Amino acid sequence: MSPGAAPDEVPLIRLRGITKTFGSGTAAFQALKGVDLDIAAGEFVAVMGPSGSGKSTVMNLLGCLDVPSSGRYAFQGVEVQRLSRDQRARLRRRHLGFVFQGFNLLARTSAQENVELPLLYRGEGAAQRSAAARDALAQVGLSGWERHTPAELSGGQQQRVAIARAIVTRPTVLLADEPTGNLDSARSHEIMALLAALNAQRGITVLMVTHEPDMAAYAHRLVHFRDGRIERDERNPHPVALGPRDADALLHSDAEGP
Ligand code: ADP
Repeated sequence: MSPGAAPDEVPLIRLRGITKTFGSGTAAFQALKGVDLDIAAGEFVAVMGPSGSGKSTVMNLLGCLDVPSSGRYAFQGVEVQRLSRDQRARLRRRHLGFVFQGFNLLARTSAQENVELPLLYRGEGAAQRSAAARDALAQVGLSGWERHTPAELSGGQQQRVAIARAIVTRPTVLLADEPTGNLDSARSHEIMALLAALNAQRGITVLMVTHEPDMAAYAHRLVHFRDGRIERDERNPHPVALGPRDADALLHSDAEGP
């Protein structure tokens, strides 16, 4: 039994017997070899493991960016493999936010416009987009930086913009693949404090791939992959505690304003 959910509850996410094979014939490679995983709403989970162990593959499946070769994936009890491509895309847009190592912001586009983009795809009107993006930027401590382009922002600030873009749609789950991989230690801890605050205060479920124990230490649960399987799934009894400054400064202040 994984520590994710009580046996009689429908977990937010349930994987059963998930396999993923890339290629075919003699070139076939089984990246996931039977993964069972339950994640309850509101968890903050770090996915760890050596390079090539299947972490990104499982995140892509969870994010509905790819489909498994076999096994079952249920999201809020809905069997994802039975959904059409369009329905999967809708699930993704409605429930999932993504944060990547490389920020993936549009270069000559302001922070505000970058954050508005997912709402533009949803067909929301200009006034609504503008207000929601401002609010999301404020939540990551970037009030006053709306007009700046990525080149005018530090790496840590760019990742904050990327997080604002991920939360502007009010997702159920934030999927973060090595979100601090391109940041120095101080900025990395700021980003982790921000993710932890979004989890604790907004109730966003956070699934984060990291190979850095210092960053995983913020999560409440550590899932270790090896060779395409879950090797260990454990509670973190003492996640890094957020100071009052972290939560306030990160979610409400414009202390970093230009
Ligand atoms: P991790 O994120 O733990 O480093 P990945 O999930 O990226 O590992 O990859 C697991 C294994 O699957 C690796 O051996 C990788 O080379 C292989 N793999 C991943 N994606 C593909 C792909 N599109 N085609 C072929 N092999 C792949």
